[in-house]
Amino acid sequence: MNTITAPDRLTSVSTIVKNALILTMDGSHSVIENGAIAIREDKIAAIGTTESILAKYTSEQTIDAGDCIVIPGLINAHTHIPMTYFKGLADDLPLNPWLNDYIWPMEKIFVEPETDEAHDFVYYATLHGAAEMLRNGITFANDMYFKGEDMARAFIKAGVRCIIGEPLIENGKETNLKDIGKLALSLRKQYKDSPLLDFSLAPHAIYTNPRDVLVRCAEVAREQDMLVHMHISEADWEPKQCLDEHGKLPIPYLQEIGLLKTPLIMAHGIHVTEGEMELLAESGAAIAICTESNLKLVNGFAPIRKYLQHKVRICFGTDGVASNNNLDLLSELDFTAKLHKALAKDPTFLPAEQMLRMATVEAAKALHKDKDIGSLEPGKKADLVILDCSGVEAQPLHNPYSQVIYALGGRAVRDVIIHGEVVLKDKKLTRLDEAELVGKAKEYRAKIRKELNL
Ligand SMILES: [Zn+2]
Repeated sequence: MNTITAPDRLTSVSTIVKNALILTMDGSHSVIENGAIAIREDKIAAIGTTESILAKYTSEQTIDAGDCIVIPGLINAHTHIPMTYFKGLADDLPLNPWLNDYIWPMEKIFVEPETDEAHDFVYYATLHGAAEMLRNGITFANDMYFKGEDMARAFIKAGVRCIIGEPLIENGKETNLKDIGKLALSLRKQYKDSPLLDFSLAPHAIYTNPRDVLVRCAEVAREQDMLVHMHISEADWEPKQCLDEHGKLPIPYLQEIGLLKTPLIMAHGIHVTEGEMELLAESGAAIAICTESNLKLVNGFAPIRKYLQHKVRICFGTDGVASNNNLDLLSELDFTAKLHKALAKDPTFLPAEQMLRMATVEAAKALHKDKDIGSLEPGKKADLVILDCSGVEAQPLHNPYSQVIYALGGRAVRDVIIHGEVVLKDKKLTRLDEAELVGKAKEYRAKIRKELNL
C-alpha cells in the first residue's frame, strides 16, 4: 500500500526552488506551472511540479518562488564590461569626438599603462559591471576588453560566467604572428579549473587588423577550438572599405581567410547583404545584435528579418555601457522586438517567446555552450533567474513570455543563481558589497573628471 514517503527516503540536494512558473526554454517549449527545480551542487538535478520534486528531494536551502517567473540566466552576447566607469561620460555626440576626445584618451590614461592603478581600474570596473549584470538577470557575458587577467579575477569574485577576449588592434604595429593567441591560451591554461571562465580570440574588426593577423587568428582558433569574437559591419563605410582594400565584402573576405570555419560570433552586423547572410547561415557563425547602442551612435538597424529568413543564428548584446548606457538585456529585448515589428510593419514578427529564446538557448548555441547552459533541463548548469511578479506592474499575468519581454525589465529580478550558487538574493548581492562598489565608482568619477579638467 502506498504511504507518504518518509523524509529519510528523500534524496538530498543543495537547493530547491519551488512554487514557480518556470519557462524552461527547452526543445519542447515546456512551461511548468507551480514548478520546482532541484539543484545539486552546480547542476540541475531535476525539474517538475513542486509536488513531484518535494516528493523526491529534500534540500539544505529552499527558495520560495511563489508569484515568480523563473527563466534561464540571460546571456549578454556582446559587451565591454570594464568600460563601466565611462557610463554617461560623454553622450549625444557623433562617433569621432566621442572616441577621440573622451573614450580613447581616458583608456590611454586609465586602462593601457602596465601599472597597479590601471589593473585596479579594470578590476573594479569589471566588478561594478558584473554586479549591474546580476541585477539585470544576466548570468553569462561574452566580453571583449583589455587586461583579461584582471577581468578574470573580478568575474570569479562576482560569481558571473564570462568569455573574455583581449581585443587585437594590430594595424600600424609590428605584430609577431607567433604571438597571436598566446595571451588567450595562457589565460585559458591559468584558469582551466575555473568553471565560470573561458577565453576567446578577439580580433577587434576587419579594419583594425591586417590580413595576416586574421589568417593567424583563424589558424589558432581551429587548432585550439577557440571562439572568435569580433565586430562586423557596424558602420556603413565598413563594407566599402573592405571591398576597396581586399576586393571582397566583409563576410566573403572572412570566408577566404578561413574565419568562417571557426566558432565565430560577430557583433552588430548592420550593413550585411543577403549574399553574405547565406555564407553566415552555411557556416553557423552567429551575429550578436546590439540595438540600443547602434541607435544611440546612429549606425542603423540590423536586418533581423532577413537574418531569420536566411536562418542566420542571432542573439543579443548590450554592447558596453559607454554606448548603451545600461546592462538591462530585458529592456534591450523589449525595445528590439517593438522596433523591428514597426520596421517590418508586422506585429506578429519577433514574438516574445522567440525573443527570450534568442537571449537564452540560442545565445548559448551561438557561443558553443549549449551543452551546459541556455535552458533549464536536468544535467545542465544551474544558471537561473527568479523574476518577482507579485507587484501591480507584473499583474495580471496572462502570458508569462510577454510579461518577461514587455512588462518586467531588470527591476523585476529578485534572485539569481549561477553554477548552483545564489549570487543575488532578495535583490541583494551575496558576494559583493554594493556600498563599496558605489564608493569606488565615485572615486573613479572624480579621477576621470580631473583628467578631463571638468
Ligand atoms: Zn563592441
